[in-house]
Amino acid sequence: MYDILIKNGEIIDGTGRPRVRMDLALRKDTIVEMGTAIQGHATATIDAAGSIVSPGFIDMHSHADFSLPAGPADSLTCQGVTTAVIGQCGETPAPLLSDTRSAVIGNYQTQGGALPWDRWSDFGSYLNYLKESGLTMNIVSLAGQGTIRAGVMGYSAKAATPDQITAMQAQVEKVMESGAFGISTGLIYPPGSYATTEELIEVVRPVTAYNGYYFSHIRGEDHALLDAVAEAIRIGRETGARVQISHHKVCWPRNWDIQEKALALIDDAIAEGMDVSADVYPYVAASTGLSNNLPDWAHEGGKPAILERLSDPDTRRQMISDMRNDWDGSWEKVMISRCPTQPEFEGRFISELALSTGQEPEVFVFDALLSADLNISVVLFLISENNLQQVMSHPAVMIGSDSYGFTMDGREQMGLPHPRSFGTFPRVLGRYVRDLGVIPLETAVHKMTGLAAQKMGLTDRGRIASGLKADLVVFDPALISDPATFENPFQPPTGVRHVICNGEFVVHDGYLQQHLPGRIIKNSTASRY
Ligand SMILES: [Zn+2]
Repeated sequence: MYDILIKNGEIIDGTGRPRVRMDLALRKDTIVEMGTAIQGHATATIDAAGSIVSPGFIDMHSHADFSLPAGPADSLTCQGVTTAVIGQCGETPAPLLSDTRSAVIGNYQTQGGALPWDRWSDFGSYLNYLKESGLTMNIVSLAGQGTIRAGVMGYSAKAATPDQITAMQAQVEKVMESGAFGISTGLIYPPGSYATTEELIEVVRPVTAYNGYYFSHIRGEDHALLDAVAEAIRIGRETGARVQISHHKVCWPRNWDIQEKALALIDDAIAEGMDVSADVYPYVAASTGLSNNLPDWAHEGGKPAILERLSDPDTRRQMISDMRNDWDGSWEKVMISRCPTQPEFEGRFISELALSTGQEPEVFVFDALLSADLNISVVLFLISENNLQQVMSHPAVMIGSDSYGFTMDGREQMGLPHPRSFGTFPRVLGRYVRDLGVIPLETAVHKMTGLAAQKMGLTDRGRIASGLKADLVVFDPALISDPATFENPFQPPTGVRHVICNGEFVVHDGYLQQHLPGRIIKNSTASRY
């Protein structure tokens, strides 16, 4: 007797090997049998004829740590994501240290939805809260270097003292002991960005005792790309941490031609024997908080200090001059995607909004940020389609959504989030595999499953084989697609028939289920939980 029998599907096992027609039998959370024409009874039998059966997708870059405490990540589950690597870009809801707790919470008020911040303090209590609140997917976690630096040093732009470095290292060790897989940085986001390379090396060093990871939103994705990739690789080389370069891209047309050199740096590091890889989302637009367009120095002291600078005419002039000098971009390509205080801005471009008020774009931005209490997100159309396809085709590149998890009725609260939140995985399989033929289906599935599991050391997931965990997606390769658009993102994918996590349906016949089979996966070398 089986719990679930999946018959007649084309199995793509996640290793990159070609598909085979095979049945799968599941008992509890495990794949117990694979074979042609498995006999026997099951509580549920699925006829998967015409469908692909693949391992559950592993989202290598998720910001759902800022949304999961408030509710399920339906937008990821309905794409087929059964494991999410959360805690990216240096910014995480934990650990919170008592002296700086309220400042850090205040600074993260613009991330995701409203969170029950009083329910955790250190990283372990945060993970416990996630587990208690119930999960539709498995969680692999990283802790943010920005959060740790803010915890120890506040929003100071100064260099860390030796004592402060020791205090940050102690925090890193503590999060690793709680089960984190490593540390992430977001080196365009203050206060994490105030750290020098040398400081980062010291702070990342403790992860290597845990065979841990260094994930980085690198210091520059524009003209500074090559130095930024080299810095991430150096940190890996000097600490021994395994490196992941997050959402690999190069921003703005004038920089597009340097991408090949960036990928060559990764190839060289791999040839040297290092563990360096990257992830990508399948869109030509990025998304971030509008306040990130302000100069780095304008963030010192955290949110109250930023708001004060935005109100001061002299500081405004200095910010405008620095922004014009440093930025490769164009306001015509920057669309407001979320502005709870002025939702009429959502879906409109900054250049157009500034024109309608007769302001310089920067002045419009300052006024808008002030009146929104900094709570404005933007989508920026700055990536080349050719580059995107080149990154996606690279053998060391996996797939990451770079998204929060949303419930499908979240439009009112969340504005127009980047459609990657709803369509990343189906878009790779539909647009890039089936429609454009950029990579074969087996390769795409490998990037979403086996390759990601191998990177994270998840030996019992990411592949289909007898004895492994039953995380599975059944999808129709002819129908899979991503209807979510920039104008109308809250749309589930089509063609995803079933999603099974730890042997339980989280999507059945295209419908989200109420089950919560997800688990917190802890770094297996942590000595105590
Ligand atoms: Zn990022």
